[in-house]
Formats: sequence, C-alpha cells, structure tokens
Amino acid sequence: MKRTVVTGIVVCMLALLTGYAAEQAATVDEPAKKPPKLMYVETDTGRWLIHDVNRPAPPVITPGGPGKAPSDAIVLFDGTEASMTNWTDTKGNPSKWIVRDGYMESVKKAGYVQTKGKFGSCQLHVEFATPTPPKGSSQGRGNSGVFLHGTYEVQVLDSYENKTYPDGQCAALYGRAVPLVNACRKPGQWQSYDIIYHRPIFKGDKVVRKASFTVLHNGVVVHDHVVLQGGTGWRGPHVISDYEPHGDTGPIMLQDHGNPVRFRNIWIRELRD
Ligand code: MG
Repeated sequence: MKRTVVTGIVVCMLALLTGYAAEQAATVDEPAKKPPKLMYVETDTGRWLIHDVNRPAPPVITPGGPGKAPSDAIVLFDGTEASMTNWTDTKGNPSKWIVRDGYMESVKKAGYVQTKGKFGSCQLHVEFATPTPPKGSSQGRGNSGVFLHGTYEVQVLDSYENKTYPDGQCAALYGRAVPLVNACRKPGQWQSYDIIYHRPIFKGDKVVRKASFTVLHNGVVVHDHVVLQGGTGWRGPHVISDYEPHGDTGPIMLQDHGNPVRFRNIWIRELRD
C-alpha cells in the first residue's frame, strides 16, 4: 500500500514537472533576431556599403624605386639636360646651374632655380648631396633649400657633425620647426626628402587654414604633420609674424646659398587640398 502511494506521488510530480516545462517552452519567446545593421559611408564616389566590392577601387600605379618615380608622378628632374628645361632661374631665364652625371648642381651667384610648373598641396621627392670634402661651418656648410610654393623652405644643410642653430639645421622648416632627429648622412652621400605638404588657404588677406608639413629625411619622419605658424626665412618668426597671402599654387624652388649642392631624381604628385 505504502509503495503504491509513493509511486503515485512520484508519477504526479513528474506529470506536473513535464507540464510546467511544456508550458514554459510554449510561453517563453525566442529572443528576436535583429536584422544586421548595414553600415554605409559617404564618399566622393557616392554612398557605399562597407566592404562593397562594387565600390570604385583606387587607380593602379607602378610604384617607383631607387632613382625611379612612381608612374603617376610628374618628373621634374631625372638627371638629363632635357628635364632641366622644366626649370628656370627666378626671372624665367635658363638656369646657369650645372647638369652632369645625372644631377644638377647649384652655382654660386647663379641664383635659385624654380620649376616652370606651379603646385599647391603635394608629395615631393628630392634627392640631394652636400659637398665633399666639407667646407665652412654652421650655415656656411652645404647650404641650400627646397622651397614649397616658392615660399616655405625645408632646409638643406650639411648637418653631419656640423653645429648650427637647430631651427636652421638640415630638414628644419627654416626658422619655424626643428626636425625630430638629425638623420643626416655624411657629406657627398645621396640623401632624400619625401615631403607631404598641404598648402595654406587664404580668404582675402587672412589665412583660414595654415600650411602643414610631414617630412621624411632618408626615410625617417622628421616632421609629423607640423602646422607652419607663418612664413620661413632668416629670423623669420621675429620679422614675419604671420602668413603673407599668395596664390593657390607656386613653383618648387631650390636655393643657391653659395655652396655647390647637388640634386637629382625630383618628382612630385599633386594632392587634394
Ligand atoms: Mg637654405
């Protein structure tokens, strides 16, 4: 008798539990699956889904290498006399700088050279070598310069074991910004600048966006998106406190500072503002 009662109780409990479980299964909703959130980006070529294979791909170019410009670059100087016709003196006349053995060399009192073409924001590659054996000291040793927009100087100087004021040493944004490190090679050795320059924008005589420079010297970052606070020049910050308005484009200019500095393999890629 007792056994029968216990069995009955167990059977009843199992029935209750089974019913409860069934009820629970019937009443608890599956969590609703949210549809995936589609992410779009607004671009110059329209509104595109992220990872959309139909989105226009960037142009294919052939990258450059030692002594060779990328396929989409404008070659300003490739070591030939023919490419020297891309350059004039500052009065628009043929330059008296020497062209030989694949390089051009500044000539004392011949003045600066500048490109016939005019450029604004750009990527500029320049290779240079300061004289060997070195002569002079401080600013008198291997001085030249690369000017963006015909105005803003990235200093060229033999700063290999040659003390000078840091805001005028090699790779300085002259008078404005000291390079992060001194990455100079020995005099006579070829060195490189890769300069990413964004031009200033003016509204009337006011600057509404200042210029910026990122510069690699021999492949080493020496200016990391540095915003130029005004013009460059000797004692520039003390004399020129702000920008002087200029056009949207200007020439690339190389300085004659009286020292025979050599340049080769100069190319440029125009960038959007
Ligand atoms: Mg200079």
